[in-house]
Amino acid sequence: MQFCPKCGGIMMPVGRRDGKIVLKCTRCGYEMLVDAKEASRHYRLETRVPSEERVVTTSRVSEGGGRLRDQEEWEQEREEYREVLLEQLQEELEGTE
Ligand SMILES: [Zn+2]
Repeated sequence: MQFCPKCGGIMMPVGRRDGKIVLKCTRCGYEMLVDAKEASRHYRLETRVPSEERVVTTSRVSEGGGRLRDQEEWEQEREEYREVLLEQLQEELEGTE
C-alpha cells in the first residue's frame, strides 16, 4: 500500500503512463508514478492482512464508542480500496508481463 507523502491518504492506481502505474491520492489528488512491479509488490503484501484484524478492530470500536468510529470507517474504506486496486493492478499487470 502506498500512502500520500502530502496528506497520508491512500494512493489508488488510476491508470498507466510511460509504462508505469499512476497512483493518485484519494484525498488530495496528489499523483505519483510507480514501477508496475514495484506497485504490485506493495499492494500484494498489503492484501495479505489476516482476517482477525477486522474482528479486533470491530470489537475495539464497539467498546470505545464514537471516538474510534472514524477509524473503523477508515479501515473499511481501506478494505474496499484494497479489493478494487488489486483487481485494477492485476488487469494492468496482465498486459506488462
Ligand atoms: Zn494526499
